[in-house]
Amino acid sequence: MTSLPLVFDAPKRGLPPRHLADLDVAGRREAVAAMGEKPFRAEQLSRHYFAGHLPEQMTDLPVALRERLSADLLPTLLTPVREISCDEGETVKTLWKGQDGTLVESVLMRYADRTTICVSSQAGCGMACPFCATGQAGLTRNLSAGEIVDQVVAAQRAEAARGGRVSNVVFMGMGEPLANYNRVIGAVRRITEAAPHGVGIGQRSVVVSTVGLVPAIRKLTEEGLQVTLALSLHAPDDELRNTLVPVNTRWPIREVLEAAFGYTSRTGRRLSIEYAMIRDVNDQPWRADLLAKRLAGKLVHVNLIPLNPTPGSEWDASPKPVEQEFVRRLRAAGVNATVRDTRGREIAGACGQLSAAEA
Ligand code: SAH
Repeated sequence: MTSLPLVFDAPKRGLPPRHLADLDVAGRREAVAAMGEKPFRAEQLSRHYFAGHLPEQMTDLPVALRERLSADLLPTLLTPVREISCDEGETVKTLWKGQDGTLVESVLMRYADRTTICVSSQAGCGMACPFCATGQAGLTRNLSAGEIVDQVVAAQRAEAARGGRVSNVVFMGMGEPLANYNRVIGAVRRITEAAPHGVGIGQRSVVVSTVGLVPAIRKLTEEGLQVTLALSLHAPDDELRNTLVPVNTRWPIREVLEAAFGYTSRTGRRLSIEYAMIRDVNDQPWRADLLAKRLAGKLVHVNLIPLNPTPGSEWDASPKPVEQEFVRRLRAAGVNATVRDTRGREIAGACGQLSAAEA
């Protein structure tokens, strides 16, 4: 068995200075009070920050105070390095550089009825899934809560400039969110709290996607949150899943499904199952049937994702007819399933491919 990097909340190496978005409401008030200012200034500053305002737009704060507060509580965490778009500008991928030079990416996807930002929770990833570009590079470091929230705030700023707003957040960028548990939960709270304390996105419009770290799923179940949990399953049998999602050797399918359905029964939220369709690897009819058998009768939705091949990989997406047959079998067994729309494929929209190219 391979030794797996299963570190929860690893050391603070490389983390940026403290930012307003790292702190809860009480922490922000304390930080402002420690600067000798009235606690209500924390609310004023928060309202502006979470709305995506820049310091010069914070006109209800005296200029000198604005500068002092933002120097202390709003350090620049992420600087855009590169931005590329496709789908006529409706999909925009941004490569960000952290204060220590770390690269992470986020992807903004505009649809008719919603705008989704896909955020990174770690620079790199320690989960080593062989079909994922981020998995190939290993883990560089965790992102701070502020660095995660800042990806959403930057998207909100871009949307506000066009008269829109970000409606959904998915933790499907770089990293394993549940391996950076406390910071991700902090970020989820900031993202979902109403103004002035947060960005004000509905909890039900946030998706946390995981390889299946069972103790962390159980912990999430106790948080009292209404976010959607997505489980990257990719195989219905342990033999194959051990190779596609190596953490499966630690927490096999039966255990991970039990934990994930524990989350759904506590929260009433439908479980999302992610399944990358990989030609001749996990797309056989018998695997569709086995998947259906494991999920039948549950509150679940299967998202089939055509594999986005990583450079140099021998794997490819399943042919359309194979994909359609897989969907048909799941549905015939009464399991909800759809094929995910593949926004941003041509800009390496999924999975660490832009930062891999930059590095
Ligand atoms: N670590 C989390 C979030 C990462 S990415 C997780 O694994 O769930 C979000 C989804 O994209 C995951 O389901 C992941 O398995 C999938 N993915 C990664 N690389 C992919 C690729 N090359 N093609 C299609 N899906 C991929």
